[in-house]
Parts: sequence; structure tokens; C-alpha cells
Amino acid sequence: MTAAPPSVVFILLDTTRADRLSAWGGPNPTSPNLDALAASGVRFASHFANAHATRPSMPQLMTGRYYHQNVLRAFRPRDQPREFPFSAPDPSAVLLPAVLRGAGFQTLAVSAHPWVARQSALGEPFETFDQLDAPPTRGHAVAVEVVDHGLALWASRDRTRPTLLYLHFMDAHMPRFLPEAEPRFPVAGYDWRARFRPDGEPDFDRARRSWNHYDASDFTPEDRRHFAAVYDTLLASLDQQLGRLFAGLRADDPTLSRTVIVIVADHGEELGDDGRIDHGDSLADAVQHIPWIMAGAGIAPGKVVKRITENVDVMPTLLAHLHLPLPPGTRVDGRPQLGADGAPCPGCAKLAAYYAWEDYRGIRRRRQMLRVNLPGSVRARCDGAQQGFRLDGATRSALPASADALPALRRRLDRRLEPLERRFLATRYGPADRPVLLRTEYWRLDGDPTLACSRLDQDTPAAAFRAAGWLASERGIALLSPDGVSPLHASLDLPDGGYAVELATIPIPPMPRFFGFTRWRNAGFEKDTPSAFVSLGSATASGGRLDVVVPPDQASGARIVGVRATPEGVAPQPATPGPDADELRRLKALGYVR
Ligand SMILES: [Zn+2]
Repeated sequence: MTAAPPSVVFILLDTTRADRLSAWGGPNPTSPNLDALAASGVRFASHFANAHATRPSMPQLMTGRYYHQNVLRAFRPRDQPREFPFSAPDPSAVLLPAVLRGAGFQTLAVSAHPWVARQSALGEPFETFDQLDAPPTRGHAVAVEVVDHGLALWASRDRTRPTLLYLHFMDAHMPRFLPEAEPRFPVAGYDWRARFRPDGEPDFDRARRSWNHYDASDFTPEDRRHFAAVYDTLLASLDQQLGRLFAGLRADDPTLSRTVIVIVADHGEELGDDGRIDHGDSLADAVQHIPWIMAGAGIAPGKVVKRITENVDVMPTLLAHLHLPLPPGTRVDGRPQLGADGAPCPGCAKLAAYYAWEDYRGIRRRRQMLRVNLPGSVRARCDGAQQGFRLDGATRSALPASADALPALRRRLDRRLEPLERRFLATRYGPADRPVLLRTEYWRLDGDPTLACSRLDQDTPAAAFRAAGWLASERGIALLSPDGVSPLHASLDLPDGGYAVELATIPIPPMPRFFGFTRWRNAGFEKDTPSAFVSLGSATASGGRLDVVVPPDQASGARIVGVRATPEGVAPQPATPGPDADELRRLKALGYVR
């Protein structure tokens, strides 16, 4: 008879970038408890998330696969292709908690994240799921509550079988209220209250961030240092609570001989680096480079892995260490990083990490990063089909398109992800049974339309709106003057079948000749909820593609935010109920809606 596997405490530190933790060289003493845990086990020093935010990252972490549908509580099921309600679950992928439950583990979870919830594919395999509430303006519960609930579940667990305890911490995520009302690492002589709100958000130039939430190009060096100091303060208070958690775990297992602790993040956070905040899809190291620690039962102490690892490796590493096979017919893309002796296996870590999501693919090697935009997309047209960067610590610089390194990076990226992506796209949908909105960011434009690109924000001058042809931005595609403009051809990724097709638009009033330009620009371009639908007739998708032609006269005087496709034979449906007032406040506090 083989011994029962050890229990697992799986700790997800949402929004935690590696380089602010002391063990990773952070400038402030943020993480004595994490550092000590890392020293007692294996620290993966060059570990990367496979995507930039919770929704795209968690499926990859929890299945060990680059491509997967949403696993969290639904957020935009009618206008996010990964969440369309007719998505077909991939039978060859399995979630970590489901594997452990199938292997006889008791499965317990505590989550401070409103999307990491019982009502989701990820939440479903848990026998007990403590969803922690918080006042909507606070956005999320804090570490002391997660640890209290976690220790209570741990104390009352069934000791006759191994346990998975999953803890999802949100302390590093916005909003960041200071636990002691002042940053622990203050910027000398800087009056932060004159610049920042108590929830951590900048209070200056709010117009700029209402256009682009991630824009921090107006931060002064002191603003950046303060913003980072607040972040570090939250990490330090999180670490303090982790210390309490580890002490609780050691109370009945002093040497952690029967408990494996896994520490990992879903993504990092930009703190003014390169003029950005939050975790948009820049794919910069501030967002992608995250901590990973494995410690406890059978794991070698004092080891550091310097070569590259990525989140898809976490699940296979844990399962191999527990001697648990994957269920028959399932597979992972990552690979185990520990040998049978619990030490990092030579040659297991990698030369590259990969980034995969709906509208980008990326590869990150030691010194370079390459991002490939969805072919034909507005972004590919406007920013280039691909963008290369040279990496130098936390900063990076753009590589010229002719850089010698790019072709080899591109070949390696395509070789690794293309077959997996193709397979995913071919099998991800069942038959369409509901209307959905395909936003312009997911369109592939065909042909060569006259397309002017503009970043739209509070500084965009009137001249930008007088460009000939289609005006493309991250806020959709507008046509202000249709004269002599050729139609727009787009292909959309949808299940085969017939659809009623409508343009989803926001009407733009005629541009004022003299006064009121700012009001006009804001009314026409600032929001992104469509308010008018223009029928384009019917069209048939085949081979997983729906081709749409947008005649200029149908789009004139409007900004197109997407196409609404209603499957034939499906009655028009009432609008999906929106979030209630409290939920909306919470989503705003978290930065998920504007
Ligand atoms: Zn997250």
C-alpha cells in the first residue's frame, strides 16, 4: 500500500509581480514570510504568467494548457468570445481541483475575488467554497479575512484524507486602501493626499484615465514612487497575514512533512513603469513576471531555478510531485519542474515562456519579447503585425522591425502555439443558440481598406477626425465622411450557420465647425456600449468564419463597436440583465468597468 499523498495549500496572490518581493530583489522589505518559505523550498526566479489578467490567466494556470475557455464567473458572456454561452468544454482539459477531488482529496476554497466563485467551472469541483464578501466600494475582501476563513476550514478538515485548500488573495489588486492609512514606505516630503485618493487611484487628470485607464504617462517620478510604495505596503500586510497562515499550518505539521505549499500569481501589475498602471495587455515583465514557490512535503530546501518557467508548468509539477496521473484522455502543455527527489530537475526549465489570449500571442526569452497581434485586426493594422522588445530588467525598449532576433522568435512562437490555437479555435464552440456581439477588436479585416489609425484620448485633435476613410482605434471603427470610401470587409470567428447581422454602433452627431469639439468628441467616442443597431441583412458562417461587408453608407455618422450576430431561428431575446447598483460599484472599484 502506498502512503496517502500530502495535503496541498494552494495560494494564489492576485496581481503580484515578482520584482517587488524581497527574495526577488524588491527595494523594500515586503516579504519576510514568503522569503523564508521560499528558502525552505524551491523558488522559481524567472516565472511567467501566460496572460495579462485574471480571466485569461486563470484557465491556463488551472489546466496547464495555453488555450481554454473561461473558467470564472461569467462577466461578458455576450461579447467576449472566450465566454460565449455556446462554448463547448474541451474534454481533453481538466482543472486542478477536479483532478485532486477525483484522487480523493477533500477540496476547500476561500476566495476574495468576486469572479473566482462557486458558480463557475473552477469553483464547481470544490466541496466547500467560502466566497468572501466586501462592501462594494472596497472591491474585495482582504488577507486577514482570507486567512481567518482558511485556518477555520483547515482546523475542521477531515483528517482521514488529504486536503486541497485553495486561497485566493486580492490585496495587491486595486482598490488599494492603506491598512494603517499611511504607506509603510513613504516618499519623503511628498504630500500623497494632494495627488491620490484613499483607494490608491490617482486623483489628478481624471479625464486622461477615463479615456485610457492604464495611462500613467503624466505621473511624476514622485507619483510613481508613491504608487509603488502603496503597492509594497499592501504586499507587506499580505505577507504578514501569510506568516500567520504558515504558523497555523505548522501548528499541526511543524516541518510541513505532510503539506505542500504552492505560491503563485495570476499576473503582476504596472506601477507607472513605461507610463502605464494596472495590468493591461502590454505583456511587459511588470505584468508577466510573477512569483512561484513550492515548499513542504518532499520538496528540496534552498533551491532557486533561474531558467524560465511558466504558469502552465504549475499543475503538472504539482501532480507529478503528488504522484497523481492525469485522468485518461486529458493532457497538459506545461511540464513538471521537479524531479523525483523534490529538487529542480536539470534541463526541465525552459528557454522561453509563451503568452496566449484571444487577440495576442507572445514569446518571452531571456533578453527579448515578441508580441504577435491577431492577424488582420485593427491592432495589427495600426500597431503592426508584430512588436519586438529588448528586455533590460524591469524596463524594455522596442526593437526595430528589422531586428535580427525577430524571425527566429517568430518561428519558435508559431511552432509552439499555432497548432494548439488552431485546434482550440476549431473545437471551442457548439452550435450557436444566442445572439452575441463580436467587438471590432476581434475582427479580421480583409482586403486593403483606407484605414486611418488614431489613439483616441483627451488630447486627440480635431484634425484626426477629418482623416479620409475608416477611422480605427481601440474604441471601434468610425466613418465620418463616406465620400469615395470602399466597403469594409471583415471575417468573424463564429460557429457555422445562418445569422441575422447588425452593426452595433454609437451614433456620432455632426462635427461642430467652431465650438463644442470636446463635448462632441466625448459624446461620440468616450463610451463603448452600443446604442443603435443597423441591419446588414443575413449571412452564413462556414468553416468557422462569418464574412461581413460593411457598406460606407450604412456606417456613416456612427462609430461601429461590433457586429451583433443572431443565429437564424433564434427569437430576439431580452437584453442580459446588467449588474445591479452594488455590483457595478464593486466592478468600478476593481477597475473592471469604467
Ligand atoms: Zn488577477
